[in-house]
Order: sequence, then structure tokens, then C-alpha cells
Amino acid sequence: MKMEGESNILKKNLTEWRFSQYPKYILLPIDENHEQSRDVIKNVVFSEVPPRPLEHNIRLVCFSEDSLTHILDMDPEIANREEFAEFIAGKKLPYGALPVAHRYGGHQFGMWVGQLGDGRAHILGEYVNRNGERWQVQLKGSGQTPYSRVHDGRAVLRACIREMVASEACHALGIPTTRSVGVVVSDESVLRDEFYSGNPHRERAAVLLRAAPSWFRFGSLEVLARGGELPVLSRLCDFVIKEHFPEIQLSDENRFIRLFSEVAHRTLDLVAKWQGVGFTHGLLNTDNMSLLGLTMDFGPFGFVDSYDGGFVANCSDGEGRYAHAKQPDIVLWNVGQLAAALKPLLNSSQQVHMTHILRTLDTYCKNKILEIFRMKIGLKEERWGDEQLVEKLLDMMQQTGADFTVTFRQLAELEPSEMVNETNLDTKWSLKRLSSHSSWGCWLDQYRERLDKEAAEANSLGLFEDERRRRMLSVNPVYVPRNWLMHEAILDADKNDFRKLRFLIDVLRRPFEVNAEADKLGFSSQPPQWAYALKISCSS
Ligand code: AMP
Ligand code: MG
Repeated sequence: MKMEGESNILKKNLTEWRFSQYPKYILLPIDENHEQSRDVIKNVVFSEVPPRPLEHNIRLVCFSEDSLTHILDMDPEIANREEFAEFIAGKKLPYGALPVAHRYGGHQFGMWVGQLGDGRAHILGEYVNRNGERWQVQLKGSGQTPYSRVHDGRAVLRACIREMVASEACHALGIPTTRSVGVVVSDESVLRDEFYSGNPHRERAAVLLRAAPSWFRFGSLEVLARGGELPVLSRLCDFVIKEHFPEIQLSDENRFIRLFSEVAHRTLDLVAKWQGVGFTHGLLNTDNMSLLGLTMDFGPFGFVDSYDGGFVANCSDGEGRYAHAKQPDIVLWNVGQLAAALKPLLNSSQQVHMTHILRTLDTYCKNKILEIFRMKIGLKEERWGDEQLVEKLLDMMQQTGADFTVTFRQLAELEPSEMVNETNLDTKWSLKRLSSHSSWGCWLDQYRERLDKEAAEANSLGLFEDERRRRMLSVNPVYVPRNWLMHEAILDADKNDFRKLRFLIDVLRRPFEVNAEADKLGFSSQPPQWAYALKISCSS
């Protein structure tokens, strides 16, 4: 929604819109030799390389009104212009663009795999918006770079749509994330073996325009530490501190420890939030872990439907390394790799300090998760026994296959008088399923008692109940980007019918508000049977 007076500020065409003349990243070492794709490029953080535009009948698939107006100061009308699609396709570079690909490395599935880097993404420039926020604007799927290795530099339509929908949905759900602005598709096709079954097929190539305050990852530091490029490592850490952690002084000799502690805690806050909405990233390699604690690189992710802590979103993850309930432990492991990357910059007493911080993180994360689940079931105070109450609920959900999202929503809607075993739950499909558990009645009694303890301190039971419901409805969404919803939108989009997709994006802008039209289409009903058999792979 446009605010009054905003239409004067928002840019209606790209001639009026320009990148900052001085992107901050020019302060870091940039390799200019972009023609050569070498195995390892040392002592640089970026490589200067232009995007390779997507050709052949470019079409705008979708855009985020919120990103346009609140990040890029663009009037949504701009999306009707051909130049906007050309901008996303990499054909029209706005004033001030200085395209670069970022060099990083990473641990994939627990193994150090060396240098990776942006093999199909280009940071085009930095935009400083009317609120003074500096955003790095990036294309994904925009062609080969010195980091492409054997790959084609492209992204397929389904993957761009999934990242677009989920990143914007996460933002609306209150989960820190990189953002998406829009997607274009062309008639150009690329070969993908979606399920690695030896049956590659052609898919339409697309480009996603995305934005983040920074695209640095744990792997940005790891590649420098592993390569022994310590002067560049310390320069990059100072840059990150100066640009993104202003509360840390550059003159502080313990600044790298403080940076570590900040990044670690932000990252654990993030994983706690993921657990609270059933988000499963699917590919938590250290090259996909943001240094700013943002959800990034949406690939084979999934939001849990029927609750299962062992849910593996990525069908290429045979061992279930990145299963839903394992995410906190995996993220802690990744944070350990971040610590290892910073270690060469620390003296021995600072290294001891780092070890102490690392030891506190597990408890910190567990407490954060409990805090979130306490809110999800409407409790304000911390009391002994809360953890067991939450665990028991999740156990029952797991054993009955109750829906993760809808169960909490329907629990919010239960009247106190309905919190007894005999209540008819025919209008609450997920609770009905949950209530088939033999411990349901007992759990409800405990829950009711626990609520009563808080209610006893309130002036009126009626007011307490209204407030509890309001709080629960504000933290438990009605809608999340379920795989089956995205799947249907993708099938149509592939045939150039973008209506379902645009409607889905629109509904997910307000995930806590009931939308009658979405409900009619089954967005908050039990997913269709075929949805449970959907497979999502790393291929993108
Ligand atoms: P991802 O699995 O998307 O996190 O990517 C892991 C690494 O592979 C990153 O360095 C990507 O840039 C690179 N990559 C993935 N797909 C492609 C592609 N089609 N072309 C070039 N590089 C790619
Ligand atoms: Mg990635």
C-alpha cells in the first residue's frame, strides 16, 4: 500500500533510478580478470564480471510490491514497463552498476569442498533508499562467472519462483531473510536432471532479482582462512564490522571475538524462528549461512505439513543431515566452522574466550526455541514444566501426523470450555487428528491448568482469554508457502499463466490474516494426498 505523498518519491522508470555512485564493496579486493575461469582465485573477495543477459521473449513472472516500494523506492507501475523486465534479465543495467561475483567457499554436507563462489549470481550495485538503508541488488541465474566451474550459470523457473515466494513469505512471517524483487522467464532452456536419475530434461531459464544488506556468508571467511589469505580475511572482517555491526569498535582488539559472538547469536535466533514455523532449509551448507543471520539461498526447502521432526525437505539428502529437528545442531556445527575460520586472527587468550562462547551456544539456542514455543501456545511467563508441555505436544503431533501450522492456529481458537477431552472437534481438522492420541485429554488438562496459573493473576478471565487468543493468532500463521501450493503455481507459470502464483504471493504477504478466497482454495485445509509425495531436490 502506498503512503500519502509516497507516489512523488517512488520512481516510475529506470532512467530516474540509480545505484549509489560508491558501492562500499569497491573497498575490498576485486579481481578484474573475469574472462579466465581459474580453479582458485586468491586474495580477492569479488570478481568483476558482467551478467550474460537472458534472451528470447523475456516475460515478467511476478514481483514483490513490498520490495519495490520499501527497498528500492520504485512505484509498482514500473513493473509494467519493458525496461523493468530487461533490468531483471540482465539486459539493462541502471546507472552506477558495477557487476561483481563474490568469491566464497564452504562445507557441503559436512565436508570442506574448497572454493565455490557466485557461479550464477551478479551483485549489480548498491542502492541507498529513502530511509538511508543500503541494499545490495543481485541477479541470480544471470550467466557464468569465474566461479561457475562446470555449470551453466543459469537458474530454472521453478527454483526462482520458490525462492521468490518463500523469501517474501518469510519476511512477512517475521523471519530475517534476504529479499526477492521479481522474476523473469524466457524461452531459453537449460538441461536439468531434476532428480539425478539420469533423465535430464529441458527447463525454462529464469532470473531472480534479489536484495540483501549483504550477501556475505560463513564461507566468505572460510575460503580466506583455508587459503591462508589472512590480510584479506582481517580486512573483510573489519569491513563487515564497520558496515553491519556498528556497535563493535574497529579499535577494539577483541573485535573479531565480538563479531563471532554477534553472528553466532543472530544465527541461533534465526534457527529458533525457523523451528517456530516449521521451516526446513534443506541445504544448510556453510556457503548458505549468512553472516548477517538472514535466511538465504532458498533451494530444496520445505515447510513441515504433518509434523515430523525427521522431515527431510531435500530428497538428495539421503542421510537426513538437514532434517527439520536437526537444524539447531547443524547450525551449531556451522557456527563451529565460522569459529575455525576466525581462529587465525585471534591470540591464544582470545581463542580460549571463543571456546567459552561456543560452550554456551547450545543452551542459548534451546532457550530461544522454548521461548518461541511458549509464545505459540499462548504462555507469557516462564514456568517449570513448560518444556515438557511443549515436548509432549510435539510428540503427539508427530505420532498423529497433525499439521504443524494449523494445529497451533486451532489451539488458539479453542475456548476454555472446549479444553476438555469430550469436545467435538469436527470443525478443527488438525486438532481432531491430534485428539486421536491417547494422551490428548491428559495434555489438555495440563495445558488448561498451566493457563489457569497465568489467568489467576489477571483481573478478568474473559479479558485474559481474549488476550491469549490475540497473542496466539499473532504468532501462529494461517498460511505458509507449502510445497503443494508452490507446485501448482509453478505448473501454471511454466505455461505463462501467472495468476495462481501472484495470488499466492499476495496471500502470503499477510500470513496471519484469514483470507476467505484462499481458504476456499484449500490453503489452510489438509493438503491433498499427492502433496505428501512431492519431492524437492537440490537441482535448480
Ligand atoms: P547452491 O546449491 O545453489 O547453494 O550452489 C552451490 C554452488 O554451486 C554455488 O557456488 C553456486 O553458485 C554454484 N551453482 C549452482 N548451480 C549453478 C549453475 N547452474 N551455474 C553456475 N553455478 C552454479
Ligand atoms: Mg548457495
